[in-house]
Amino acid sequence: MYRLMYKFFILIFLSVFLGSCSSSDHPFPLEMHKQNQKGEYLYRKHDEYHFKIPPPEFVKAQQYVWETNLTGGLPKITKEYFRCKGSHLNPVRIVPAEKEAKYYYDCGGSEKHSLPLKGGEEFIYPILIDLLNELQEQTQCKVVITCGHSCPEHHTYADLTNKNLYSKHMIGAEVAFYVQGMENSPEVIAQLIQDFYKKQAKYENKKEYTFFQTYEKDDAGVSTKPLYNKEIYLKIYREDEGRNFDNRHPYPYLAIQVRYDFDLKTKVVYTWNLAHRNYLRW
Ligand SMILES: [Zn+2]
Repeated sequence: MYRLMYKFFILIFLSVFLGSCSSSDHPFPLEMHKQNQKGEYLYRKHDEYHFKIPPPEFVKAQQYVWETNLTGGLPKITKEYFRCKGSHLNPVRIVPAEKEAKYYYDCGGSEKHSLPLKGGEEFIYPILIDLLNELQEQTQCKVVITCGHSCPEHHTYADLTNKNLYSKHMIGAEVAFYVQGMENSPEVIAQLIQDFYKKQAKYENKKEYTFFQTYEKDDAGVSTKPLYNKEIYLKIYREDEGRNFDNRHPYPYLAIQVRYDFDLKTKVVYTWNLAHRNYLRW
């Protein structure tokens, strides 16, 4: 009895699930379907709606994470941009001498040492960062830092002339840079820097900051007379001036030195200890 029922169910299963249904043996072939299809026109006026559609509202696109921290449409400059440009991949520089040639090796760069320290943390004078971001904001062009912090080892390697032994690059108080797209207009950039001081509320009515003087002595090593106020000293290097390992590009560039710490009300001065002992090596 059970065996009979079992066979019966198998038969039903085969007929229902395995019985194929191809288009050729369909009781209503496709052509016939098409003939039988009927449409109906919708009769309404163009402005008749079942539901009133509200007028579209303008919604500002949400910013992506990487768009939130921009100046002039470009990533905001931070102290990270000032890391030493040294690298162990740079070749040894040899200076021939009568008795014994001198060999100069580059530092390992940011992989091997930190920025200068202040209160136990890496530190670059904020006015330098603020000024460069202001330039990006005003020009909508990228600021290219050719030299931010330079450790003593890289500083010696980059400029074998030893002309600038007490450079504030070593203490995080100087930056050399050009503005991409405005490389040949350093005067425009210098003017924007001066304008920055006129716009900031914290320098209001402080003539020693808003008014720039011309450095008249001829020991600056550049053909364009530098400018300075109480806080910074600003130099323009022409295409053929101030070339060193960090500035091998063909453009004029600018250098800003910090002279005075606005917040601490103290002079910013190079010292051997600050340059050589105030950063971490690993
Ligand atoms: Zn270095």
